Amino acid sequence: MKWEGNRESDNVEDRRGEDGGGGGGFGFGGRSIGLGTVAVALVASYFLGINPLTMLNLLSGGGSPAPVQQQAPSHKPSPNDQMARFVSTVLADTEDTWGQIFASNGKQYVRPKLVLFSGSTPTACGTGQTATGPFYCPGDQKVYIDLSFYELMKQRFKVSGNFAQAYVIAHEVGHHVQHLMGISDKVDAARRNATEKQANAMSVRLELQADCFAGVWAYHANQARHILEEGDIEDALNAASAIGDDALQRQARGVVVPDSFTHGSSAQRVTWFKRGISEGKVSACNTFAAKEL
Ligand SMILES: [Zn+2]
Repeated sequence: MKWEGNRESDNVEDRRGEDGGGGGGFGFGGRSIGLGTVAVALVASYFLGINPLTMLNLLSGGGSPAPVQQQAPSHKPSPNDQMARFVSTVLADTEDTWGQIFASNGKQYVRPKLVLFSGSTPTACGTGQTATGPFYCPGDQKVYIDLSFYELMKQRFKVSGNFAQAYVIAHEVGHHVQHLMGISDKVDAARRNATEKQANAMSVRLELQADCFAGVWAYHANQARHILEEGDIEDALNAASAIGDDALQRQARGVVVPDSFTHGSSAQRVTWFKRGISEGKVSACNTFAAKEL
């Protein structure tokens, strides 16, 4: 993916190096901690167990989210901090792309913040931790990522390529778009009166829609800025496939239990990302109306 020289976002909050306290991450950031079985379990718990809607439920259902601390003003990553500059550029691209899509529908896009952290950090959805993987918190409209997650993708899941990394951000921004469109709230309400199986099925549709929205972003970003290079789409599809619930369950437990899926199977994630990137339209991403996922 071509990105050098493109605009960087002002909405990056760099909290790396401060530990937010209150939980303690697993700290496989940066150095040499074994990215073995433990890591699989951690990533699996992110993709399987910790459902973004749990956070939504926490918010709307009473729980007691940690108070949001007043953060120091965000500052731009230093010019030689390649990884931070990269995610900042991807975020800027999603801002431009979704800004235009919203504007063309007579709506205003509210830009989310992207928080870089290490270890743990306070969020409006409770304490964010490295082990949780990247996530979006609707309560403060921020995407949280510990960049060591990319190392894990590469080493454990053999997913590399900067477009696959961009896809992770675009997927989380997809959740922000769902929040702005009121979709996550509706799903959250519906889930409250649903059985666990039904609730999981709704989560799957929400997740696949975020994959599709990531594809919609890629379509428009490529039209406007020609960001895609040979092999990029394959990289993203590999990522979508490697982190499908069936693939993760097989790795973590040796068995696949479709009813417990909250993100969708590898094939489904690939299908919806492809749909987004080939059609480039929000309307192509109505996973809730789809008979077949
Ligand atoms: Zn998601």
